[in-house]
Amino acid sequence: MNKLRITLFIITVVSIIAGFILSKETRVDEKRFLGDVAPDVIFSAKAGTPPHYSSDRSITAFNSYDAAPSVNGYAGPIKVLLAINSKGDITGIKVLEHKETENYVHYLMSSDYLGRFVGKNVNDPFEPDNDIDALSRATVSVDALADTVRRSSRMVAAKVYGLEVKGIERKKGTGAGWLVYLSLFLASLCIYYITRGKRGLVRARDVSLLLGILIIGIYLVTPFSILHVFSLILGRVSSSYLWYAVVISTFLSVIIAGRFYCGWLCPFGALAEFLGKIPMKKWEVSNDTDDRWRNLKYILLAIAAAVVFVSRKTEYGNFETYVTLFSLHGDYLAWMLVALMLIINVKVERFWCRYLCPVAALTGLFCRADNKYISNQDCPMGNRPKPLISECIRCNKCYVKAGEAEG
Ligand code: SF4
Repeated sequence: MNKLRITLFIITVVSIIAGFILSKETRVDEKRFLGDVAPDVIFSAKAGTPPHYSSDRSITAFNSYDAAPSVNGYAGPIKVLLAINSKGDITGIKVLEHKETENYVHYLMSSDYLGRFVGKNVNDPFEPDNDIDALSRATVSVDALADTVRRSSRMVAAKVYGLEVKGIERKKGTGAGWLVYLSLFLASLCIYYITRGKRGLVRARDVSLLLGILIIGIYLVTPFSILHVFSLILGRVSSSYLWYAVVISTFLSVIIAGRFYCGWLCPFGALAEFLGKIPMKKWEVSNDTDDRWRNLKYILLAIAAAVVFVSRKTEYGNFETYVTLFSLHGDYLAWMLVALMLIINVKVERFWCRYLCPVAALTGLFCRADNKYISNQDCPMGNRPKPLISECIRCNKCYVKAGEAEG
């Protein structure tokens, strides 16, 4: 395990350095797109505070990032080119740059969705679920897009046209999603501790897994992803409380309870485990084969890290089935992988988690040894007696109290 940790660490550091040297992040030339937000309008050079493009047609264009740089989506700022008229009406909009996960925001970035901002006045509320369509599969990105348009356009309307505008302060939080997430996380963690060593209560985990599917997968659409970690390492953090709730709670839980997240909350792990309970003859996997194939997920994680850090594009590291499944978006290959994994899970319980999942690999690397887990035939991870703690998802089926372990 130490060798794996060191190897992955070296790959990460080398890739990050290579990424800095090889791929220069160039800022999009926004001037090229002025015609998209204001056709047939001739703009002067960018100037003023906040920086903007003026015209003799009472239209002003600007990059939202120049006026409201502190609004972040799920992975940094969403930079939008906007045009407004002297009444404060939005007349054109185009997304210039973003680092969000494409699966979650493909519709959000479409001209069909963005067109709904055109005609709105800067003093409109710009509130998802109120005057803006709240796409349930990208709540953090929807909030960030609406907030960046609201704040930047009000700022420009006030400074350039002298219009009286409502507040341009930053919107507080992004709904109660983070509270729901943390409540579920803490409740499950408490039940995990309470039910340790109590064989009659191990089924309590099924309730937690079911809630993981319903709340984390379907309602919040925010399963912990390796892309959270890649974005964090690349310095692309969110301004959403939900993002911090997901990342910090998972990191802390790995330190105190190993792969608790995988065993109690991961919506895809839950689905895989429930499917594995379908009474069908299972494929026998020998310990040797199992040991060899478990390493595959570490290799995939290393490849994904190298590709992402060298290219500095997180979407290149996205092969996670839960991202495709719960975002309801992916290409043909991505959906094939989801279908294949769900089918194979019926024959080998938690196949994806055992052999391929990059989150399993990452969290496994940081698990602390715990000799109170002895494993048994029932182990959902096929973990052998004296299990590898990196493969244990803390289902508690084999937990023995202090003193019993040696007996
Ligand atoms: S080793 Fe024990 S606690 Fe861990 S997953 Fe297997 S049965 Fe559950």
